[in-house]
Amino acid sequence: MAHSHTAMRVLWTLLLLLPSVLWAQEDVIGELIADHSTPALHKPVIVIDPGHGGKDSGAIGRRQVREKDIVLQISRRLAKELQHRLDAEIVMTRDSDRFITLDGRNHVAVQKKADLFLSIHANAASRPEAHGIEIYYLNDSTDEASSRLAARENKGSRKSLSDLRKILSTLIQTESTELSALLAREIKQTIRHRIATKYQLERLHIKTALFYVLVGSQAPSVLLEIGFVTNPREAKRLSQKDYQTQLSKAIAEGVVQYFEVIKSRKVNL
Ligand SMILES: [Zn+2]
Repeated sequence: MAHSHTAMRVLWTLLLLLPSVLWAQEDVIGELIADHSTPALHKPVIVIDPGHGGKDSGAIGRRQVREKDIVLQISRRLAKELQHRLDAEIVMTRDSDRFITLDGRNHVAVQKKADLFLSIHANAASRPEAHGIEIYYLNDSTDEASSRLAARENKGSRKSLSDLRKILSTLIQTESTELSALLAREIKQTIRHRIATKYQLERLHIKTALFYVLVGSQAPSVLLEIGFVTNPREAKRLSQKDYQTQLSKAIAEGVVQYFEVIKSRKVNL
């Protein structure tokens, strides 16, 4: 009698415990699924880097248009656009008119484990006719204009050109260069589609150069020269809200396309 009583209690206890055992199992299964699908759940981190700032005005063009102001305005619009279109974490290396070193910009990208790094700049030339948009990704270049530009944008870095070449030689084999080229192509396509005809943009090129700010980011990255502040027409429209919005939308769309291509590649593996 005593025995069967104990047996009953054990049975009851087991019955009472059963749901929680099942729950616990579900939890384990849930965790396994979560673990397995972590890459899909991982929110991409996109770092937007408005060039120059503070004591460093960058290029100064027509109507006293300053590169540092234009690129901050466009970067903010781009951040908003990307936030709206992607489930991503958007980080700005600066969100005010403050000076930040090139190393400081790299540091943000590394610390935030950036999946993408977009550096936004505006171009300048002594000839007022010079115009157009250039999309750069990191690679060695024999193009003299690109080297001159890189020298200007690299001001503030203590690394010499030969240092950069050395670093580059180790980076160049990586997937990052291929992805940067892909990103540049996608952005070029969406700018061509959204901007080129509407604003009669004749020059839209992908180029390579040794930009220090791209060397250290360790993520697929491009540096955009969004137009010439020394060109009267471009300086004017780069200051206009409507054009800034259109351009930001085009760049954001390129980034969205880039992630689409990456996703489809992973699916096809
Ligand atoms: Zn610049």
